[in-house]
Amino acid sequence: MKLILRNAAAIATCSASGKRCKRGDEMNDVGVINDADLLIEDGVIKSIGKAGDASGAETIDVSGKTIVPGFVDAHTHAIFAGTREREFAMRARGVSYSEIAAKGGGILSTVSKTRELSKGALRSQAAKRIDKMLEHGTTTLEIKSGYGLDFKNEIKLLETANELREESLSGIVVTLLGAHAIPPEFINDRDGYLELLIRELIPYVGRKKLAKFCDVFCDEGFFTPGETRRILMAARESGMLPKMHADELSASGGVELAIELGAVSVDHLEHIGPDEIRRLAGSDTIGVILPAVAAYLRGTPAPAREMIDGGCPLALATDLNPGTSMVDNMQTAMFFAISLNRLTVEEALNAATINAAAALGISDSLGSIEIGKQADLLIVDGDYSIMPYHFTENKILNVVKNGTLLEFPG
Ligand SMILES: [Zn+2]
Repeated sequence: MKLILRNAAAIATCSASGKRCKRGDEMNDVGVINDADLLIEDGVIKSIGKAGDASGAETIDVSGKTIVPGFVDAHTHAIFAGTREREFAMRARGVSYSEIAAKGGGILSTVSKTRELSKGALRSQAAKRIDKMLEHGTTTLEIKSGYGLDFKNEIKLLETANELREESLSGIVVTLLGAHAIPPEFINDRDGYLELLIRELIPYVGRKKLAKFCDVFCDEGFFTPGETRRILMAARESGMLPKMHADELSASGGVELAIELGAVSVDHLEHIGPDEIRRLAGSDTIGVILPAVAAYLRGTPAPAREMIDGGCPLALATDLNPGTSMVDNMQTAMFFAISLNRLTVEEALNAATINAAAALGISDSLGSIEIGKQADLLIVDGDYSIMPYHFTENKILNVVKNGTLLEFPG
């Protein structure tokens, strides 16, 4: 099956020129090719430039439009039950996230609602979210567990994510986040919960191949660096790759640990300091910023300007979750990264595509427009900068997933 997109005003390739991701000044260049065609065959990009005669190909005229790679949302908690607008209102009156969490709100309130819901109900709610994300340009996303926090419910969430991966048009990468918080039953027995994670849940998930990554919320009030190390070492032994939530609420010591453990990414980083930025720049671990969270928490944005200027590879994600980021749209995440974290539009676009793919270990086949890569593409109504500029509207006219032009109802 052949598809030609003809006469694009521009193609922003986001190519890293054969490298896994972009860093420093490279992030400010999205590799624009002007006035070009794009030929796709059997889901793969075959040529970029003037395509000439291509008989038998479906042809779409994209004059005046820009083609960009499909967004990769490298950090979401997209399977959850219930919403938490009351906590949003409490925070607006000055109650802190940690105070709400200490009173049984926060993550644990979503845990109790998620435990009550059946797999079928969770799956159909999440499927709607994922379809909406796809319509707004997210062609691949990561989904974490972490609202089950016991053996049965963590497995329920991971199985749901894997079923969605089979059924959905979107690409889905699954992450075990059993160490999202200490569940209420273990509040006076932290070691008991760690034992459950390390001796039962992680080996089972590894054996059944239910997750590619294992993540830990390494922060004040959640898991210490020592506990995080034990969990991620066990995960590595069970065949999962390490990821971490770090430095969201305080300087947790998580970045150093993430680098030492060879984590694929370390996410949040609102409180990362200059020494850690230097260490991260010298490592292969990708820093993932989640700017909507600072907006929701009225918190400090991650010092992403300093991170890019210091040479760190940086990716961008929504952190879609009911507590601190009801944002499911990468165009919105780009806007927040530009306005709060002082990224340029080009840095935000690279962070949302090639570097986000690298943060999921899939940038060899996704995240940029290059010959031989999977054809996950967005046709933008104008220049690519219109996406964050007018983020309250969907500026993506068409989504091409795996070489197929998608139709959305309505
Ligand atoms: Zn998160």
